[in-house]
Amino acid sequence: MNLNELLRENIKNLQAYSCARDEFKGEASVYLDANENPFNSPFNRYPDPLQWKLKEKMSDIKNIPVENIFLGNGSDEAIDLLYRAFCEPRQDNVVAIEPTYGMYKVCASVNDIEYRKVMLDENFDFEAYKLIDSTNAHTKIIWLCSPNNPTGNSLNRKEIHKLLKWFRGIVVIDEAYIDFSAGESMSDCLLLYPNMVILQTMSKAWGNAAIRLGMAYASKDIIQVLNKIKYPYNINLLTQNQALKALDNHEQTEKWLSDLNEERTLLIKELGKITFVNHICPTDANFVLVKVDDANAVYKFLVNQGIIVRNRSNVSLCLNCIRITVGTKEENKTLIEELKKYALI
Ligand SMILES: *Cc1c(COP(=O)(O)O)cnc(C)c1O
Repeated sequence: MNLNELLRENIKNLQAYSCARDEFKGEASVYLDANENPFNSPFNRYPDPLQWKLKEKMSDIKNIPVENIFLGNGSDEAIDLLYRAFCEPRQDNVVAIEPTYGMYKVCASVNDIEYRKVMLDENFDFEAYKLIDSTNAHTKIIWLCSPNNPTGNSLNRKEIHKLLKWFRGIVVIDEAYIDFSAGESMSDCLLLYPNMVILQTMSKAWGNAAIRLGMAYASKDIIQVLNKIKYPYNINLLTQNQALKALDNHEQTEKWLSDLNEERTLLIKELGKITFVNHICPTDANFVLVKVDDANAVYKFLVNQGIIVRNRSNVSLCLNCIRITVGTKEENKTLIEELKKYALI
């Protein structure tokens, strides 16, 4: 893969904005360089544009070198930046599995990029050659999501490796739910695949959706491109501080994970007893996709009981499916009780 051939011409030639905090790094006693207000510490100062402290902690926990980490305003920022870096509007295209997370498609539309869907098979899995068959000389990115949303399953590892070897463009693997899975992250293979980008997030296992922090892991060259085109201060101070706290307290996350995975097993067992549940999709995520007799009716009933699940009935291959997030023991119990009531009407 040649990164310079993949990048858009304007991005290749871009001179990045140089902010005051880029020009002077280090400690000083008097800061008169950024037109900040000297009062209202610590909020008067611009935050670290490259979030070094946070990345160092992330690097320790994830065992990924700092120079291979990009931090964004949610994974959504990284998704958008990848389009802006590699895809020329009205000229390039991307290929993605279907069904999957909706943001890949939305960001394609925003950036005026053709989005090519390749349907998953009956096990919600894929074959690398089918994705390759859908590419052409203008395909810059292939989007994978594993464990996948809304299906919950992990994609076939062998096929992911094949795709990374065969495709000369960027392969993104969205691992938003990897911590709920027994499977390993693909991040161990960063050196092997210079065309791979892995996305993770603080929004799910880490319980910090509100702070908007997403991670992208990739080759140093790709990370440099993302850093060049992002907004200078894309991660605010409150977010950086809260993320540091969460990473310091990672035992809490591990406890949540073991509790939630236990609850997931219980929830699946109870859902199996519900008469109108026709299929429970295998899941490696903190949600479960279930096929029911009439998804619209079940959804409406639950809303009336104050319980909100996701009706995925209009999504490809998901007719009459609802997606249920694993909640607390009490929340899951309430859900099951209401579903049993619905079965009686
Ligand atoms: C929830 C989710 C994310 C998280 O996005 P953020 O912008 O980091 O909150 C990313 N990818 C998938 C597939 C998701 O389901």
